Amino acid sequence: MKSLYRKARQVIPSGVNSPVRAFRAVGGDPVFMARGKGPYIWDARGKRYVDFCCSWGPLLFGHAPSGLISAVSRALARGTSFGTATAAEIEVALGIRSFFPSMEKIRLVSSGTEAVMSAVRLARGATKRSKLLKLDGGYHGHVDSLLVRAGSGVATFGIPDSAGVPGELARLTLSVPFNDIGALEDVFRREGGELAAFILEPVPANTGVVLPAPNYLERARALTKRHGALLIFDEVITGFRVSPGGAQQYYGVRPDLTCLGKILGGGLPLAAFGGKSALMDQLAPEGPVYQAGTLSGNPLAAAAALWMLGEIKKISSSRKWRVLENRAENFYGELIKAAERRGLTVRLNRLGSMFTLFFSEAPVTDYASAKRSDTKRYAKFFHGCLKKGVYLAPSQLEANFISWAHSPAVLRRAARVFGELL
Ligand code: PLP
Repeated sequence: MKSLYRKARQVIPSGVNSPVRAFRAVGGDPVFMARGKGPYIWDARGKRYVDFCCSWGPLLFGHAPSGLISAVSRALARGTSFGTATAAEIEVALGIRSFFPSMEKIRLVSSGTEAVMSAVRLARGATKRSKLLKLDGGYHGHVDSLLVRAGSGVATFGIPDSAGVPGELARLTLSVPFNDIGALEDVFRREGGELAAFILEPVPANTGVVLPAPNYLERARALTKRHGALLIFDEVITGFRVSPGGAQQYYGVRPDLTCLGKILGGGLPLAAFGGKSALMDQLAPEGPVYQAGTLSGNPLAAAAALWMLGEIKKISSSRKWRVLENRAENFYGELIKAAERRGLTVRLNRLGSMFTLFFSEAPVTDYASAKRSDTKRYAKFFHGCLKKGVYLAPSQLEANFISWAHSPAVLRRAARVFGELL
């Protein structure tokens, strides 16, 4: 492993292709993974881990589900890319819309970052306003305008702004603490008339999972509407995760624009953004807002998405959906009991099959309280788990995920490991 890391660092900056993979938040050398199946991943030495990172969210049905492999293999034999429209893209868009009715029209792109970047440009173009509002610690991919008081890898490294983002651009982005309705009202009172959009994860997962306070999302909806700003829900993580129709279905709040990614592509590079037809029709070539992509709607990614959407449909009745949630709740119950047995106060923030175990005495309700959790203790816990064959997100300020491939027996075993290490 060490030799792989040494080699990687010679040709890849920091040895990784995305910062959070470098283990800086937990220390030690990153693990190189070689394959995955169901709830497990195997590292380059052949050691097996129960995987709670799940590629940072996409793997709702675990690693390498056979149906997905067949669907992608069939598409592969037909050709990897045409650079033209294809019928599969229509099916994907219709499938997305069946779960997210607020997305009347949809564009497919290749990453969550691209979806957010495009949605932000569309919001600015459509409203003819420049300013954006986001949450403290809110991470939306490495979009220039949003690397301002950002979370995820950025929060982990304590660099709220990235070098290379012009100050002139960053000054157009305002940020508020999550769950503080007073602060939200205040900023809209002062800046509402100049805001193109308020963009947020309706359930922030990039500061670790934090749930919205009652009425927060409703108030965000009302304020954006009143001030002519767009409400953008970044559901790259929550989409198809907290309910089939994402957080907007779960909380019953309809945004103007939605960004999806991760689960949609089932591990292949596919993401999407969409909203009302009149708004989406402002995109080129019909409209003045330019947005494009050589590999957008790529046939392999579209085949994966169609398989994912088909499987999600099969489990989308509330009875079936609850099967995974109940499994997750039993697992959380085990963790809480284990912590209580040891007289430990931990905060297990969770919604359905995503969770963060915060080493914190106080409730975690926003970025500031998330940052006060004991990251050193988390790092110890993380490495203990790693040794015992359980792979968690390598940072306290991230979400972990449970897939349908995590059987009750697998979860019980993982809960025992957690219990021992707590
Ligand atoms: N939005 C959210 C909420 C995310 O969590 C992420 C990535 O973690 C992104 C956007 C960016 O997605 P991608 O990494 O696919 O560019």
